[in-house]
This record gives sequence, C-alpha cells and structure tokens, in this order.
Amino acid sequence: MHLETEYDVVVIGGGPGGYPAAIKAAQQGLKTACIEKRGTLGGTCLNVGCIPSKAMLNNSHIYHQTQHDLKARGIEVSDVKLNLDNMHKARLRAVGGLTKGVEFLFKKYGVDYVKGTGSFKTANEIDVLALDGKSTSTLKAKNVIIATGSEVTPIPGIEIDEKKIVSSTGALELQKVPKKMVVIGAGVIGLELGSVWARLGAEVTVVEYLGAIGAGMDPELAKNFHKLLSKQGLKFKMSTKVNGAKVEGDIVKVEVEAAKGGKAETLEADAVLVSIGRRPYTQGLNLDKVGVELDNRGRVVIDSEFKTNIPNIRCIGDVTFGPMLAHKAEDEGFAVSEMIKTGHGHVNYDAIPSVIYTHPEVAWVGKNEAQLKEEGVKYKTGSYPFVANSRARTNDDTDGMVKVITDADTDRILGVHIMGPNAGEMIAEGVLAMEYNASAEDIGRTCHAHPTLSEAFREACLIASFGNAINF
Ligand SMILES: Cc1cc2nc3c(=O)[nH]c(=O)nc-3n(C[C@H](O)[C@H](O)[C@H](O)COP(=O)(O)OP(=O)(O)OC[C@H]3O[C@@H](n4cnc5c(N)ncnc54)[C@H](O)[C@@H]3O)c2cc1C
Repeated sequence: MHLETEYDVVVIGGGPGGYPAAIKAAQQGLKTACIEKRGTLGGTCLNVGCIPSKAMLNNSHIYHQTQHDLKARGIEVSDVKLNLDNMHKARLRAVGGLTKGVEFLFKKYGVDYVKGTGSFKTANEIDVLALDGKSTSTLKAKNVIIATGSEVTPIPGIEIDEKKIVSSTGALELQKVPKKMVVIGAGVIGLELGSVWARLGAEVTVVEYLGAIGAGMDPELAKNFHKLLSKQGLKFKMSTKVNGAKVEGDIVKVEVEAAKGGKAETLEADAVLVSIGRRPYTQGLNLDKVGVELDNRGRVVIDSEFKTNIPNIRCIGDVTFGPMLAHKAEDEGFAVSEMIKTGHGHVNYDAIPSVIYTHPEVAWVGKNEAQLKEEGVKYKTGSYPFVANSRARTNDDTDGMVKVITDADTDRILGVHIMGPNAGEMIAEGVLAMEYNASAEDIGRTCHAHPTLSEAFREACLIASFGNAINF
C-alpha cells in the first residue's frame, strides 16, 4: 500500500515530547499525525523509563518497609514474602493503562496515530515503514517535529545481553533477585534501580567514575545522600573506572580500577547494570538526506523556536539540547506546537526540576552552591532539617533537609534543594516560586498547612530571608 496524506504537522516519535506536541497541535486545529515505531505510545518514559521504574520503586519500598519498619510503628506482620512475578505484573498494569490512555487521547483530540518507522524522503515528506516491515506509506507534512528521544549509552567492550549485563530496560525486568549486583554509574537511573534490587535483597555495589553521586546535585546534599544510601546497605566504589565486564558461566566479572590509575580489582556479580547515561537517538531518520545538522554529541541542533537548520523541521525532547527528562520534553512538546500555530511558545529552562525517586527522595530546581560559586554570584542559604518538622516526626521519616539558596542582595530564590520524604512532590512549590521570581520572604510569609512537610520549605525560606526560623 502506498498512501499519500497531507498534514499540517507530522510528529516522529510518540514519547512524552512527541505525544503532547501532537495533542497540542490537534487542539489548535492543525491536522496532525504522530508516527511511533514501538507498537505502543508513551516512549521511553511510559514503556521502559519513568513509569515502570517508579512502579518498582514504590512496590519495593512497601516490601522493604513492611519487612523492616512496621514493628516499631505497632504493626506486627509475619511471613512477609516477595512475589516478584506479581510485582512485575503490577508494573506492567501501570504501563499498559497509561500507554492505552495516550491512544485514547489521540482519538479524543483527532491525532492520527501512524504505527511504523518514519524516515525523511524530503523535508516535507515522511516515509513510514509499517510495523510488519512490509507495507509503506508517505505522509506529506507542512511541519515536521522530530521527537525520537534517546537510547542507552553503551560502554565500549561491554556487551549488553539484557539478561546478565543489562541496561535500565533489562534491570526493570529481572526475573530473579540477583544475589550480587554491580551498578555502573551513580546517576539517577543507577541509584533508583540499584535501590529497587537492594530493597528486594540484592547486595548492590555501585561503581562511579566521579567523586560524587547523583550528577548535578548540590554537593552538600550529594554528600548526605551518599551517607544515607550507604546506611541502607548500598556499597559504593567512588572515583573508580570500569575497564570491562564479561559473563563467565553464571556470573559476570567486572574489571575495575581507581580512576586515576591504581590497583585493578575484579568484582563478581549475578547481574550488572550499565547506567552511565543516555544518548540522542536519530538512527534511521535519514537526517543526512535532508541535511539536518547534528552537533558533536549527536544532538539535533535547534534555535530558540525549536527550528533545525531546515526551517519546517523542528525538534524537541531527549534528542536535542537540555536535560533528558520527560517533563522537559513535555513542556517543549506543548511549546513547539504553539510556536507552529501562533509564533509564540515558551519553556523556562531555569525552572526545570530534577527528582531522584529513592527513599528519601532528592529533588532540586535552579542553581546549586557549586554552580553559584563558579559563577561568582553572592548568595545566602537557608537550611531546615526534616527532624525539626512536625509531620516528618509524626511519620517517623525524618532523614533529610530543605535548602533554599537566594540572591544575597535581592532575596530572590536561585535554587531549592530537598532531600526527604516526598521531595519530588514538594519541589513543585520551589518550581512555582522560581517561575514567578519569588523571594524567600514571599514564601516565608505564605501560610502553609500544619502539620505538613511543606512547612520545612517555608522555614528554610525564613532562615534564608530573616536569618531565623520559628521552629528551629
Ligand atoms: C529507567 C529510566 C527512568 C527514567 N525516569 C525518569 C523520571 O522519573 N522522570 C523523568 O522526567 N524522566 C525519566 N527518564 C527519562 C525520560 O524517559 C526521557 O527523558 C523521556 O522519555 C524523553 O522523551 P522523548 O519524547 O524525548 O523521547 P522518548 O521517550 O525516548 O520517545 C521517543 C519515541 O520515538 C520513537 N522513535 C524513534 N525513532 C523513530 C522513528 N524513526 N519513527 C517512529 N518512531 C520513532 C521511539 O520508539 C520512542 O518511543 C527515565 C528514563 C529511563 C531510561
């Protein structure tokens, strides 16, 4: 079959960048199609990223808490057992419901969902090879949005088989709790999935090339977080490089040595997670055919209107600049379609939060102390520990703190860094404060419900602004 249909907008990729772009375009009256080759919508995030990892994090936390934390709360349970099959089923239920939900939204708003692999024939024509690999069609497009996302960055010489040596995708699906697990990379994904398997009983060793965990985190919080995770049983080998890993029978041997050179060591594990980051994915798009420019890291080069060097082709999400985060991709999806329709569309890159969904969670937005020092900005800080917060005390969950960083002259909030229970929810207030250029005094004078964890944010702001909190 060879179909030719003309669209105002064709989006390539149905992830958290592409599907909101398609919905927003259709909502504005543009005839829109979204091409997705995975067989389900939602991209990395819904299928093998944010959603399944959070399902595993939540359920492994409940299991771990039931085993280790309930007695002191006056709840006695016995014979607690892990049913990993059912835990995986719960993960798949969450994924299935949400991916089908996106399909429903496409129908609701009139987006044509085209199942297959898209590639450029010309700047205005996209060939689609159907999922069966046989039939093709061509979509004509006034505007094209590339939203093809990212893929796992491999380590040269280490072959990912998704059984013993796994990427994040394989690590979500392990059918047995490994006795020993090595995680290569102490970034967000490594720490989250390392925590999942540690809670389920694995002895987890995290190997990190740098001297600090949680790339991008405020140094003070990173240090405290490292201590807390170590207390939970995760082992760390910092400033250590991995030279190779190979499967020998039932075990994987991982060769490591000090990053600056030193004694080599072999770690043995039943499973190894390679999580050193992700890289932009443009394979098969035929970008060279239409001359779309990439930078030296393989990212599609765009301007402030998401335009590539070919004006009718725009690009959003992981495949271009900026943090590889679902909500950043989503904001860009919304903005790019507004830009196409109206010529205006906005993403505030200074107010994009990051969250690590461990326990405690870590969340931040804006600048951290290391960045401000490097930029020579004069700043003040206000830190408030959860141990002084009444709700954290009632919940007996007091690890962590809120740290607010403000401009020393204007009191404007420059960064918010939270480590603690529900930090990922709490950071929304920090993001809103930054979006509206709030000062710490503004937040300090805003009424917060009692007893809530959010009072810790207010108290940190009072400290930053007035030098003192009431309850500290
Ligand atoms: C384990 C894990 C956990 C994560 N957790 C979080 C989290 O908690 N919070 C967060 O914000 N982010 C998280 N992320 C990152 C998040 O998933 C990504 O930032 C986000 O999915 C990027 O969205 P995107 O739309 O740019 O790309 P993707 O989600 O990668 O979607 C791109 C889609 O394009 C499709 N595609 C590619 N090429 C073609 C083609 N030629 N034709 C048709 N279709 C094509 C792909 O099949 C894919 O479905 C996580 C990632 C991983 C791996």
